[in-house]
Amino acid sequence: MDSRAASTPELLQTYADALPELSVPWRAETPPHPELAWLNEELAAELGLGIEWLRGPEGMAVLTGQLEGTTAQVYAGHQFGRPNPQLGDGRAVLLGDLEDSLGRRRDVHLKGAGRTPFARGGDGKAPLGPMLREAVIGEWLHAAGVPTTRALAVLTTGEQIAPRQGVTPEPGALLVRVAASHLRVGTFEYAAWHLDPEVRDRLVEFTIRRHHPGADGPLGLLEAATRAQAELVAQWMLLGFVHGVMNTDNMTLSGEGIDYGPCAVLDVHRRDAVFSSIDRGGRYVYGNQPGIALWNLSRFAETLVPLLGADPNTAVDQATAVLERFEGWFREAHGRGLAAKLGIPLGEDAGTVPGAVHELGAELFVLLEAQRVDHTAFFRALGEDVAAALFAQPEPFDKWRRRREALRGQGSSADDARSAMSRVNPVLVPRNVHLDAALRSAHLGDLGPVRTMLEAVRRPFERRPEHAHLEGPGAGGEHFLTFCGT
Ligand code: AMP
Ligand code: MG
Repeated sequence: MDSRAASTPELLQTYADALPELSVPWRAETPPHPELAWLNEELAAELGLGIEWLRGPEGMAVLTGQLEGTTAQVYAGHQFGRPNPQLGDGRAVLLGDLEDSLGRRRDVHLKGAGRTPFARGGDGKAPLGPMLREAVIGEWLHAAGVPTTRALAVLTTGEQIAPRQGVTPEPGALLVRVAASHLRVGTFEYAAWHLDPEVRDRLVEFTIRRHHPGADGPLGLLEAATRAQAELVAQWMLLGFVHGVMNTDNMTLSGEGIDYGPCAVLDVHRRDAVFSSIDRGGRYVYGNQPGIALWNLSRFAETLVPLLGADPNTAVDQATAVLERFEGWFREAHGRGLAAKLGIPLGEDAGTVPGAVHELGAELFVLLEAQRVDHTAFFRALGEDVAAALFAQPEPFDKWRRRREALRGQGSSADDARSAMSRVNPVLVPRNVHLDAALRSAHLGDLGPVRTMLEAVRRPFERRPEHAHLEGPGAGGEHFLTFCGT
């Protein structure tokens, strides 16, 4: 074991030191009886933290935020399209940032740590179910190769907290979250709305240095962030993931997904699928996600326009020109991912995805929706040559399949194509019905099912008999709704 694995990691406050205007010193409450519900041993190793040490008294002190020098960050944001001038870590503290074993700087953040100066009306607490949900979603996305924040640990606090729904108190919990950073579009909105332009310059510089070192000034940062979001949302769409609350304060500048509250995964493929009980207008439905990402990036661009150094009209034109490239970047990332999911080789030197792949995809999604076919099951079945069975009316699919065969050409053997497809089309996704059942068990004191789910989604491309019960959508998935109880 290296020496670091057995001692307190060096947690810096790089962000608060560089941008003291954007956070306040703040310390987590002391939980009465903290216990580990789940420890992410794989991530701990990546961070260079020893498992035994983390489970011991010093590790538990770190995981519960009993440290000097911790901070709470302020930010603003557009929530469901409306500006909110002040949000911030209402129930979270930044424990600090550290360098991981690959030399990357990572934030370690604690959610559910009690009220902070930014708590507004909230109680500062977090229930166990939603913290475990965030852990499951993060592990699954990570395993599927999608940039995401991840849970290092979920703990129960030993407290019962006010119910988010109904009348029964809920077990209080803490989520220790690891992120490339917690810089959000909302951070820039706060700086633009409340602080000197000089702070914004420093924020731009900090963000570039941390996430996009190749970017040239504010315009380069806009370009890098736009591209990263286009790629992120393309991957969400391919997996059938619905974030559910893509407010600007929940969109990072690093390009990692964050804050998996009322999120869900498609069963039946449906453009207008929405699972969040608070999204009454359907702003964040599955099919709107690329458009919403661009909307959020436009709010980001507005904060940068005054920094572009040009006269205001030219600056707006410059920012607009970058935003206009979002669609192309999204289309390219989506098309490339789709070709892989469909087993269509693009060739090493294919500059852009051929139009025929996009057309084939567009037709497929109409077909899946019309015949109410399960998103995840379809792609997996396609690779296993059993997709026809999923269609009530076989003719349209048959026609589509022949066009796909023509596009596939003679590129690779059927076996090679099959195994390549099984590496991009998951068998296991955190299905709503199964995840909900696992979280309900956790609420009632049995952590077994959610631990099994965490195990399952971390190897999403493998079909394992012990996880067969998690494969299908389960009964009642069509009417699934997640509540605001995050
Ligand atoms: P979210 O959309 O879940 O990321 O949260 C939106 C805002 O509400 C953030 O500023 C959170 O810190 C804050 N918030 C959410 N739940 C609570 C709570 N229980 N107590 C205090 N603040 C909260
Ligand atoms: Mg948030």
